[in-house]
Amino acid sequence: MIRFLLFAVVAVALVALALMFSQNPDWTAQFKAFGYQMTLPFGLMVFLGLLVLWAFGWIYFLFRRALAMPAEVARNARISRQNRGYKALTQGLVALSAGDPDEAEKQARRATKLLDETPATLLLVAQSAQLNGDEDAAARYFETMTEQPETAFLGLRGLVMQAVARGDRKAVDALLDRARKIRPNAPWILELDYDLSLQNGRIDNAHRAVKRLSNRHLLPAAEAAKRLALAETDMAFRAATDDNWRKAVDHCRRALSEEADFLPALGLAARAYLELGHHRKARELAGQAWAQRPTSRVATTFLQAATPENATAKRAAITDLTAHNETALFSLYLLAEAAIEAGDREAAAVAIDTLSQSGAPVGFSALALRLDALRARGVDPTPTPLTGHSLPVEPLVCLNCGTEHDHWRAVCQHCSASGMIALPTRPPESPPKMLPPAL
Ligand SMILES: [Zn+2]
Repeated sequence: MIRFLLFAVVAVALVALALMFSQNPDWTAQFKAFGYQMTLPFGLMVFLGLLVLWAFGWIYFLFRRALAMPAEVARNARISRQNRGYKALTQGLVALSAGDPDEAEKQARRATKLLDETPATLLLVAQSAQLNGDEDAAARYFETMTEQPETAFLGLRGLVMQAVARGDRKAVDALLDRARKIRPNAPWILELDYDLSLQNGRIDNAHRAVKRLSNRHLLPAAEAAKRLALAETDMAFRAATDDNWRKAVDHCRRALSEEADFLPALGLAARAYLELGHHRKARELAGQAWAQRPTSRVATTFLQAATPENATAKRAAITDLTAHNETALFSLYLLAEAAIEAGDREAAAVAIDTLSQSGAPVGFSALALRLDALRARGVDPTPTPLTGHSLPVEPLVCLNCGTEHDHWRAVCQHCSASGMIALPTRPPESPPKMLPPAL
C-alpha cells in the first residue's frame, strides 16, 4: 500500500515536471566544462541526471551481489554437506535395524565426518560398534554421550544395558540412579526396576514400579493385574512364613482383587483364614481353589476348617469339598477314602472302581487293599486323622527350568523367571505315600 502511494506520488511529480518543461522550452542551463561552453535545455538535463542516478543504483546492486558471492557459495556447500550427512545417518539407522554391522559402521563414519558429533550420530556410532561386538568402543561412545546434557540420558541407557548384560549389579544400580535423576519415570527405567527388584527379592519395590507403569498406561491392564497379583501373593507368602496371618490375608485379598482366580493366592488365603479362625471363609476359598485345581494342601485346609467330629461328618465335609470339582481324580480318591473310613463298603467299591477305570496312576491299589481289609476285619486298618487324608503332596515346579520348590514364590531362584512356579501340569506318576497307620 505504502509502495503504491509512493509510486503514485513519484509518477504525479514526474508528469508535472515533464508538463512544466514542455510548457517552457526556453528554460536552459549554461555551464563550462573542459573549456567548452554548453547550453542544454533544462528538461533534458534533469532527464540525464535521473539516468545517471539509475545507472549508479544498478552498479551498486551488482557490486553488493559480487561481494556476497563467496558467503553464498559456502552456505550452499554447507547445506549440501548436511544433506549428505543426514542421508548417511538414515542409511546407517536402516542398516542398524536390518542387522548389517559393516554397512552401519561405514555410514556411521560418514555421518560423523559430515555432521560432526550430533546426538544422532553418536548413537549410531555407539550402536553400530555394539552390533559389531565391540562393547568397549560402544561403552566409550556412550560415555561421551553422558557428557552432553541432550544425549546424557541415551548414553546412560546404553551403559545400563551393557551392565545388565554383564550382570554387574553394582554398576547397574549406580547408572540407574543417574538416569533416574534425569527422567525418573522413563518406561525402560520402571521396567528394569521391576525386573531387578523381583530378582533381588525387593517385592515392595517391584510392586511400586508396576503401579507407576500402569498409572502411566505403559502396561496393558491385564499384564499389570497379573504382575500386581504376583507381587501381592509373594508378600502374602512372606507374611505367612512369619506367622503374620492377618497381613497374609490382606495381601491375598489384594492379589485376588487383581486376579480373582489366582490359584496360589486362593490356596494361601484359605489357609490364612483358617489360622485366623474364620472357618467358613476358609472353606469357601478352599472350595474355589479346589474347583480350579484339587491339591493335598487345599483338602487339608478344608478339612481343618470343617472340624469334623467323626467319620460321618468327615465324609459329609469331603462331599461338600468335592462337589466343587466332581470329576477330578483327587475328588474321586477322597470320596473313596471317606467311604472306607465311614465303613461304607458298597460306595467305596464303586468309587475305587471308577478310579481304576480312569487309568490314572493315583494310588487306587492302596485304597483297594484298605477296602479288602475292611471287608475281612470289619474295620479300616489305616484310617487317616479326622482332619487329614492320604492324598499325595505335589511338589511346586518352575515351568521354565523344572526346579522343584518347597513353597510358592513369585520368582524362581534358580532361573530368575517370574510367575513360573506352579503345580505340575499332570498328576504325579508315583502313587501317593500312605500315612503311617493310626495305632
Ligand atoms: Zn526356574
